[in-house]
Amino acid sequence: MSSYSREIIGELVAGTLPWHQTKRIMSAYKDEDRFFKVLSVLQDRVSWDDRILLPIGDHLFIAETPRGRVTKCECGHEHGDYRRNWKLTAHIFVRKTEETLREIYPNSDLPDPRWMEIREFICPSCGILHEVEACAPGYPILHDFQPDLEGFYRDWLKQPLEG
Ligand code: ZN
Repeated sequence: MSSYSREIIGELVAGTLPWHQTKRIMSAYKDEDRFFKVLSVLQDRVSWDDRILLPIGDHLFIAETPRGRVTKCECGHEHGDYRRNWKLTAHIFVRKTEETLREIYPNSDLPDPRWMEIREFICPSCGILHEVEACAPGYPILHDFQPDLEGFYRDWLKQPLEG
């Protein structure tokens, strides 16, 4: 059972949490100075030394590591090469029954579990909730943010990545 409040999960489903904005990061950070300031704040927050290249969630980053550019949780858990779908290596809690859906829709009409399920993607190491997907049962797990990392550094930031 996810330990997250239904409010948080509801907001994630609705896409109203601020870090959903990071999906537009490539157009949002035209001011490269601001971008690097944000990165340095994030870098101070994590306990590991691998360089953060791009935040893709409130607690999820693409980082430069000895194992390549990987998707990495704030706690240090690595989800593998950033071009692969990190969600496939997360713990997934699926709400597809009335009972579990009711927890996040306490006062409103329930989505019909025959047509919609909610998937919560959770770090297997620290248990933090990274992402929520609402979709039809059986629908493939989305990899909804596939940044052109190299192009972003080269073209927007004018600081091409090595290698
Ligand atoms: Zn974690």
